[in-house]
Amino acid sequence: MSTVSAGLVLVLNSGSSSIKFRLIDPVAGTAVVSGLVEQIGEPDSAVADHAAGLRLIHQRLADSGVDLGEVRAVGHRVVHGGTRFHAPTLITDAVVAEVSRLAELAPLHNPANVIGIEVARADFPDVPHVAVFDTGFFHSLPAAAAAYAIDREVASQYGIRRYGFHGTSHEYVSREAALLLGREPAEVNTIVLHLGNGASASAVRGGVAVETSMGLTPLEGLVMGTRCGDIDPGVLFHLNRTAGLGVDKLDELLNRRSGLKGLSGVNDFRELLQQVSHGSPAATLAYDVYIHRLRKYVGAYLAVLGRVDAIAFTAGVGENVAAVREDALAGLDGLGIVVDPQRNRGGNGARIISAEHSRSTVLVVPTNEELAIARAAWQFV
Ligand code: ADP
Repeated sequence: MSTVSAGLVLVLNSGSSSIKFRLIDPVAGTAVVSGLVEQIGEPDSAVADHAAGLRLIHQRLADSGVDLGEVRAVGHRVVHGGTRFHAPTLITDAVVAEVSRLAELAPLHNPANVIGIEVARADFPDVPHVAVFDTGFFHSLPAAAAAYAIDREVASQYGIRRYGFHGTSHEYVSREAALLLGREPAEVNTIVLHLGNGASASAVRGGVAVETSMGLTPLEGLVMGTRCGDIDPGVLFHLNRTAGLGVDKLDELLNRRSGLKGLSGVNDFRELLQQVSHGSPAATLAYDVYIHRLRKYVGAYLAVLGRVDAIAFTAGVGENVAAVREDALAGLDGLGIVVDPQRNRGGNGARIISAEHSRSTVLVVPTNEELAIARAAWQFV
């Protein structure tokens, strides 16, 4: 294995029934081993709980020839940092307690993150554990972008504001975009379009996030695999009154049965494209709604930033689907955005896909949240 490395960082992303892991050499910027343990705690699963899941990860790391003594830090992805945490944070008992408390804001994610942290601390007791928050990069949102226009006292009592998510990706991609332009992040204004299963957009001015599409929860904003994104909140009252749907049913409807899946029956973008190519009207509508929403956000963020140097596409759909990039930005020549069809369809990895005369440079930038987390954790070694 990498015997010349200064040390390795284990990055963990613990969900309610899965742990994603990646062992990273933060100095070289390379992944040594990565993998996923799934179906934790599910009926008939061989993996009873997260502790068993981590034992399995240990085993896989050992099997691949890694000297676990080289693991000098563990980085944990934590979804919600509330207003309390934004910078990468050395995990102590007090930090674990506070992250648990923030479960109120992220009931599906933070409890799983905490379990992952606890089993990993027991397993790697002698190295620093560092929490990196998905909301962190967006702590800088100006009040005008962060506040919802609702009763101030209710908002303050219950922590109702826009927090944003996917922050590690937006930060990493906006910096990489500046590097690709050969400029300092502090000089560059960027729109980042993170299009994966979940999807979010951000406006970054000089390296600082000033707007993002996700809000109190990851439900707001763009059309996603199974989430609706922006919707009139009146829909909820209406469905409650006329269809008798209670809060759990509504939550399930908007988080799990909406977005591409709600419109077309499939949430995976590859399947969606296949159905579009077969002429499915439902899939075509889903695609059109997805693109329309994306264009609206690009337009809005052009106005927020005033001057846009870079527009960066990232994550599964953003990195791989040329048609989405082309359709989302089609006809924006007047605004200084011109995608070059050849560049857009060819090549791979980080690259420029706009025409030479495009005022804004359009880019594909593969995201690497794990590397960003590993580098953040490395600061504590
Ligand atoms: P997440 O990390 O949010 O789970 P990803 O960033 O991996 O998601 O993105 C997953 C989405 O990207 C899926 O909808 C998948 O179909 C889509 N995707 C990945 N690769 C391709 C590809 N080559 N062509 C089309 N869609 C793709």
